[in-house]
Order: sequence, then structure tokens, then C-alpha cells
Amino acid sequence: MRALRLSGWGQAPELREVDRPVPRDGQVLVAVEAAGLCHSDLHVLDAGPGDLPFRLPFTLGHEVAGRVEQAGPLADVAVGERVLVYGPWGCGRCGRCAAGLENYCDRRADLGWAGMGLGRDGGMADYVLVPSGRHLVPIGDLAAESAAPLSDAGLTPYHALAPHIPVLDAESTVVVIGAGGGLGHLAVRLLRALTPSRVVAVDVRPEALALARSCGAHVTVLSTPDGAARLPG
Ligand SMILES: [Zn+2]
Ligand SMILES: [Zn+2]
Repeated sequence: MRALRLSGWGQAPELREVDRPVPRDGQVLVAVEAAGLCHSDLHVLDAGPGDLPFRLPFTLGHEVAGRVEQAGPLADVAVGERVLVYGPWGCGRCGRCAAGLENYCDRRADLGWAGMGLGRDGGMADYVLVPSGRHLVPIGDLAAESAAPLSDAGLTPYHALAPHIPVLDAESTVVVIGAGGGLGHLAVRLLRALTPSRVVAVDVRPEALALARSCGAHVTVLSTPDGAARLPG
């Protein structure tokens, strides 16, 4: 299968032919339909030796949507199901991993990787091997290229918003700063989908505010030195 591999720090990644993995135990092989290119990928490509605690080589790609191709004998997943892959895998055995907080894995410093496409083989390939079906979220008929970024660019603002959603009612106003960026525009969409609150989008670029409006922001404010004074009451 094809895979975009990073083999040396500071070097360009290369499209290589590698063996297609075979899932064992609870592992799942996902046929990749779409993989997002995240700004973190550019940081990885710019990193020098020792900058990141990842072992080389590995396949890039940590925002992945696809279809279950093959399941290990202990995996409880349906072959053929379309799924989004949760990428920040942990050790799977420490207390935080057991509580479902794999992004805060206690053994992160010892692992040599931070998850799929970040030290472990990721989804910029024809297939990606996922350690467990618990990392897969069914997506039905959602377009893969729309779904893939939700696993990172969507999950990050959701992580920030989720604790506050229960208190955000129709009388609330939420200000999203940097509302036209890769995370911010999804924060606006999430707020509109999950709350009845008024959403005020702030950004430094007029085109970013246009994107925020198209995502459902009720009010947009260009960030200038006197921007705070011009926020609606
Ligand atoms: Zn990312
Ligand atoms: Zn862990």
C-alpha cells in the first residue's frame, strides 16, 4: 500500500510502498477515505532532531475517516462500517486511559509517540491500523473529507466548549476570538448546533469574519485596538 512516510527530521516526507498491516487481537484495519492535513503536521515537518518525542520513521496523518476493512479476532466492530478515527491514542492501560482520557495518558512521556500520525503510523496511506475499536466513531454517510477534520480541528474546540454547554442558554452570549481559523470556525458551528446562545465572532481579518458569518455567527467584530469597546453589550 502507499504511505506518506517521515523518515528523518527536517526531511521532506516520501510516498513509499509499505506492507499492508494485518490486524491482530483487538486491532482494526481502516481503509482511508480522507485524511486531513493539520497545521501540527507542518510543525512536525519543521521539527529538528530532538524537538519532538517521536520515533522515526512513521506515516503522517492524524485526522482520518474511512471504512472498516478488516477486524482482528477480538475486535467488536462491523466490517464495512464507515468511521472517524480518534487519533490521540494512549497506552490504553493507565488510570487516565481507563477513564477514557487517552489524550492525557500517564505514560505519554515514555511512549515515543502521541498517537496516530504522530509517532505511530497514521492515515496518509491507503490503510491505517487502529489499536482498538474504541477509537472508532461511526459516521454513517457523512462525507469523509468533511468528517476527517472533526477528529482534531472539531474535537479541540468541542473540548473547550463542552463543560460550558449546560449553562449556555438563550440569554447567553459567547465570544469566539480567532473565529475564522481552522478551530475557531468550527467553534462557531458547534455553538450554533449545541446551544441557543448568541455567538459573537472576533477576528483580525475581514475574510475570517465572512467565514464565521457563513458558519452561523450572529455578530462579527473586527479585532482592532478599540475592538473591545465595539463589542455588542
Ligand atoms: Zn492536528
Ligand atoms: Zn495511558
